[in-house]
Amino acid sequence: MERFNTMLEAAEYAATLCNSWSFAYSNTEVYDSAKLLVSAQMSDEENPVDEDSFYVVSPSGTIGLCQDGEEIDWLFLSNCAVDEDLPATLSSASQQIKFCPNCGSGVVPGARFCAGCGTKLS
Ligand SMILES: [Zn+2]
Repeated sequence: MERFNTMLEAAEYAATLCNSWSFAYSNTEVYDSAKLLVSAQMSDEENPVDEDSFYVVSPSGTIGLCQDGEEIDWLFLSNCAVDEDLPATLSSASQQIKFCPNCGSGVVPGARFCAGCGTKLS
């Protein structure tokens, strides 16, 4: 799970993973990359998040807002992985990657590479 301080950064990253999103609170509206980036920019200008908050992007490109460092409010759902199992909190997200699939050593939550063998973690 990647973390970003602004929604625009999150959206730019998500756009490398996916090309279509649905807004979580309206299942009729579909966003393409351009529309997502415009919405993200407006959101940053109108409702910048405070220091304790950040955006997260799931491996499929779903964008969520983490307000208290724990619970995740998923905002833009990736249409590339509709059955994705999204964690409700960051701690449950980090539990998904607990051990290196290659060598089995413990992995720090959020680490990109295994400290034991250097395998890239997804
Ligand atoms: Zn390893």
